[in-house]
Amino acid sequence: MRREHFQILCATLVVLAHGSTSDGPFSLPALPYAYNALEPHIDGETMTIHHTKHHATYVAGLNGAVKGSGDVISGDAVALAKFQATAVAQGTAARNHGGGHYNHALFWVNLSPAEKAGKPSPALAAAIDKAFGSFSKFQEEFAKAATTRFGSGWAWLGVRQDGGLAITSTANQDNPLMAGLGYDFVAMIPVLGLDVWEHAYYLKYRNKRPDYIKAFWNVVNWSKVSRNYETYAKAGQPVPPTPTGGNHAAEL
Ligand code: MN
Repeated sequence: MRREHFQILCATLVVLAHGSTSDGPFSLPALPYAYNALEPHIDGETMTIHHTKHHATYVAGLNGAVKGSGDVISGDAVALAKFQATAVAQGTAARNHGGGHYNHALFWVNLSPAEKAGKPSPALAAAIDKAFGSFSKFQEEFAKAATTRFGSGWAWLGVRQDGGLAITSTANQDNPLMAGLGYDFVAMIPVLGLDVWEHAYYLKYRNKRPDYIKAFWNVVNWSKVSRNYETYAKAGQPVPPTPTGGNHAAEL
């Protein structure tokens, strides 16, 4: 067995052994790469804690939140994406944990080991140029949104209702699919998100959020982000957070 396959197997066993996510429809999806696969840009210890502790807590919290609702809900990736629109209306736990599960599941699959990171597809590259002037201007604007988000939250690239690309940021575990956030943000279907909570970077980057944002560009899975854009967001569909956009169980 190759080393990286062994590490993915270990990561899967950690998830299976964790158990806290099995009391409901939603489960913690395994990472499609080893915990240390994004080094040196994002370190293995941060990835391990972020996935097995932080993300697992959101999954457990979401299962708790939907338990009392009486609704029969499928826990697959498509259902999770659709859940976002009404999460705020379903209460604080659904908002925080529903957003937390979706945002992280999308984040993991939008990252990739640096040697496989690739480039935006021609269609996405053209849309970026049209919206921001150039790829480097897009990176500048995205980094600004990520840097200036006060406290904890996320920066996003996404497709507005008019079909154009835009950048926004949201607080805590909110995301721009959610209706009724109660503060200024750009409503959009996100295709790329960056977690700017301190738990995402503090072990390696300490208080230097801008250095983490700069490192992030090395590990963006552009073929996945391009698929998010072309197959889902451009068609008005929220992006299912799996490697190809299908169901969790089938893909992971
Ligand atoms: Mn996080």
